[in-house]
Amino acid sequence: MSIPFIDLKSQYQSSKENIDSAIQRVLDHGQYIMGPEVAELESKLATHVGVKHALACSSGTDALVLPLMTKHLKRTDAIFTSPFTFFASAEAISLAGATPVFVDIDPKTYNLDPVKLEEAIQTVLASGTLTPKGIIPVDLFGIAADYDKISPIADKYELFVLEDAAQSFAANYHGRKTGSLGDAGATSFYPAKPLGCYGDGGAVFTNDSDLHAEMVSLRVHGQGTTGDKYDNIRVGLNARMDTIQAAILLEKLKFYDHEIALRNQVANKYNELLKNAVVTPFIPEGQSSVWAQYSVQASNRDTIRQALDEKGIPTAVFYPTPIHRSTAYRHLGYPTNCFPISEQVSTRIFSLPMHPYLSDEQIETIATAVISVAHP
Ligand SMILES: *Cc1c(COP(=O)(O)O)cnc(C)c1O
Repeated sequence: MSIPFIDLKSQYQSSKENIDSAIQRVLDHGQYIMGPEVAELESKLATHVGVKHALACSSGTDALVLPLMTKHLKRTDAIFTSPFTFFASAEAISLAGATPVFVDIDPKTYNLDPVKLEEAIQTVLASGTLTPKGIIPVDLFGIAADYDKISPIADKYELFVLEDAAQSFAANYHGRKTGSLGDAGATSFYPAKPLGCYGDGGAVFTNDSDLHAEMVSLRVHGQGTTGDKYDNIRVGLNARMDTIQAAILLEKLKFYDHEIALRNQVANKYNELLKNAVVTPFIPEGQSSVWAQYSVQASNRDTIRQALDEKGIPTAVFYPTPIHRSTAYRHLGYPTNCFPISEQVSTRIFSLPMHPYLSDEQIETIATAVISVAHP
């Protein structure tokens, strides 16, 4: 018996008929680009997240780039983000023309530390080389960053907040949904994300109608909304979502809440079995996770991973290298160990198989294998 790290096949089998006929409808009507399913999905996503506008687009990365492009950023503009995230959180800042400024994470949630955020803003202001413009908090592994602390800091220094909700689509944050917690929110529908399509896809959420209108134009080469379609009014992207992906997501959104409930059952069972063996995930009061990953910490991580690998149990490390140490950002000149929490967590963290269709028996097999070798 081999255990998959994520199980997209079981998910597809469980709603094969609906997904097949949704795809067939697109093949039949033939509007492969910006067909009716795209607008229908946008409306359903906006309702699900609790915002005025959702804009479907080509990837989570483009969902970060599109709102940033509306800010007309310069290399001397600073956007603050976490160094302990997927590369795209920082890459989007560079693609939009600004400079990422990293801020260390909270040791329990692995999300941006609001106290260190304010310190970093003050340091940038004092140095006078960069101008603070915005913050991209990341909702890592499925739980929201601390927006109740981050938003007042953003207001105080007049910075915009772009939520990177690529791993957290519609997680609960004190009665609100992730994606709606900043001036704009970006999510990804990459297949392995909690809500995944069958290719690349993403979406931007916002209550700001002007921002939304500008992104509608940017998504299709900066086209004008009235008049001559070939008189482009700004420089944009080709960042549309394929109609087929929208059709698949419309079907998958129907059972998303059910799948999140199943993911929570898996996480609860892991927590119960592993709580004395490793550092299990911390979920702050008033929040819930959508479990993009089930990540734990142990001092002998590499030994545990090897022992699991020998038993056919896959694991992964998110993330072995904090972004400021990646080759692409070495030129920013961050000294070694300037973000001690990110550095330390990156040597101890690893993720166990997580998907809605893990059986109790599989969870027990995995937990037993961890417990037999783990040192917390
Ligand atoms: C996956 C991911 C992205 C990028 O999404 P893509 O759809 O792969 O472009 C951005 N930020 C985070 C935190 C992610 O996990």
